[in-house]
Order: sequence, then C-alpha cells, then structure tokens
Amino acid sequence: MLAKSAGIGLNIDAEEAARLDLSLDVIEAVLSEPSLAGWDGFGVVVQAYGKRATHVIDWLYRLATRLDRRIMVRLVKGAYWDTEIKLAQVESLPGFPVLVAKHHTDIKLHLLCRQIA
Ligand SMILES: Cc1cc2nc3c(=O)[nH]c(=O)nc-3n(C[C@H](O)[C@H](O)[C@H](O)COP(=O)(O)OP(=O)(O)OC[C@H]3O[C@@H](n4cnc5c(N)ncnc54)[C@H](O)[C@@H]3O)c2cc1C
Repeated sequence: MLAKSAGIGLNIDAEEAARLDLSLDVIEAVLSEPSLAGWDGFGVVVQAYGKRATHVIDWLYRLATRLDRRIMVRLVKGAYWDTEIKLAQVESLPGFPVLVAKHHTDIKLHLLCRQIA
C-alpha cells in the first residue's frame, strides 16, 4: 500500500523452491486486496532454473486475468542453485527442483520469454 501511494513498483523476490507455494499464496492474497485495485506496480520474480517456472507463469497469467490486474514479471535464472542441489540431497529427494545443466537454464529463459510474450 505504501508502494502504491508512493507511485513506485514493488517486486517480490523468488527464494528457495521449498518456499514457492507459500510465496504464491501470499502473492495471491496481496493482489486480491481491493485497495490495490488499479495499481500495476506489483511485480513477481520467476526463476528460469526452477522446474515449475512454466506453471508459475501460467498461474500468474490466470491470476492477473481473474483479478483484472497487470503483474510485472522479472525473469531471472535463479540465485540458489547450489543450495537447491544440496537440500535435495540432504532430504534424499528422488529429483531436484531445479534444472541441472547450465545450458538448460539458458534455453529455458528464452522459452519463458516467449511464453510471457
Ligand atoms: C535485479 C535483480 C533481481 C534478482 N532477483 C532474484 C530473485 O528474486 N531470486 C533469485 O533467485 N535470483 C534473483 N536474481 C539473481 C539472478 O537469478 C542471477 O543474477 C542470475 O542467475 C545470474 O544470471 P547471469 O545471466 O548473470 O549469469 P550466468 O552466468 O549466465 O548464469 C548463472 C546462472 O545459471 C544457472 N545455473 C548455473 N549452473 C547451473 C546448472 N548446472 N544447472 C542449471 N542452472 C545452472 C543459475 O541460475 C546461475 O545463477 C536477481 C538479479 C538481479 C540483477
């Protein structure tokens, strides 16, 4: 609300994959706030290395449509690659929540740009 009243944009950073669901719940709750209607300064960061990135973009698009809002998207590659790999190994998970080859992340970034466009 302060950002809206000051006329500035506000981006919500993307953190570890385990916090993605919770983060999206908070983002949905904030965007649904009636007093923020008409403000297009709300932004969300999406990590291209995340295996759910495509679904996150789809989800944001549906949310923006449903709430009749525009959402800024800052597309990044992702800053916690080593941590994600380590956490998945510590938990003995059957897979990783992030892509495991650098060039896959680079390609995914371009595909997500086209998806957003
Ligand atoms: C303004 C701003 C805001 C940002 N906000 C966020 C944020 O909210 N959340 C966040 O996570 N990051 C955020 N970042 C960081 C961003 O994710 C990194 O800057 C970006 O990953 C670096 O990409 P590059 O093209 O500069 O480097 P490059 O060297 O081209 O790419 C490095 C990236 O490639 C990916 N990568 C490396 N090795 C592998 C591998 N083996 N398999 C798969 N992928 C791999 C990783 O994502 C790594 O960070 C932000 C950066 C900026 C400038």
